[in-house]
Amino acid sequence: MRDVERRIVEACERSGRSPGGVNVLAVTKYVSAAAAANAVAHGVRHIGENRWPDSEEKWRLLHGQAVFHFIGSLQTRKVKDVVGRFDYIHSLDRLPLAEEIQKRAEALDLTVSCFIQVNVSGESSKHGLAPEELPGFAAALRGMDRIRPVGLMTMAPLAAVPEDARPVFRRLRQWRDELNESGAFREPIRELSMGMSGDFEVAVEEGATWVRLGSVLIGKEEDI
Ligand SMILES: *Cc1c(COP(=O)(O)O)cnc(C)c1O
Repeated sequence: MRDVERRIVEACERSGRSPGGVNVLAVTKYVSAAAAANAVAHGVRHIGENRWPDSEEKWRLLHGQAVFHFIGSLQTRKVKDVVGRFDYIHSLDRLPLAEEIQKRAEALDLTVSCFIQVNVSGESSKHGLAPEELPGFAAALRGMDRIRPVGLMTMAPLAAVPEDARPVFRRLRQWRDELNESGAFREPIRELSMGMSGDFEVAVEEGATWVRLGSVLIGKEEDI
């Protein structure tokens, strides 16, 4: 964890950013509830999981101590498992999903903070809206008072070198700024959820406010 923190600080120094602007989301999907609890005991505040059945034990154990983020692709019929448990959804990528989140959140009288997932690279294997769809999607979200759009999320294509991900991260930042300039959302969105174990330093240099780190952070319990 120390090593990751140091690498984030160095990436901030290279790009003139304040390290306080970068949040670490510890992706615990590979590890046991005990390992996740150990990470929380060592200062992890945000936990990322991509399937409810696999995260249920961790959530029951840790939900008062850590904030839970849902980072996996979300089927509409699974929304009921997620809303009310996870404070953030990083994978909002289509209108029927937004409508279901709105409906469940209304029933529970709460608001869900959501990142809109964008398929910047256009790979067919990737989830996410095409960038051109963002303005229309943002407009549709204006009518959904239980969804608080907080930012954009993307996954860069698997690359031989982290540097290859830079244009993808840069485009996501530009889209955020363009959407804000055109007043697309009720309130400007600030966050960029981008960067994983293999490319997080490049993401930080390009403005990531959330890096989603699994293997580099808690791949093995003794790494903590
Ligand atoms: C698994 C996962 C991560 C973390 O991956 P690592 O490469 O282990 O850091 C980040 N984001 C999403 C959406 C994931 O599914």
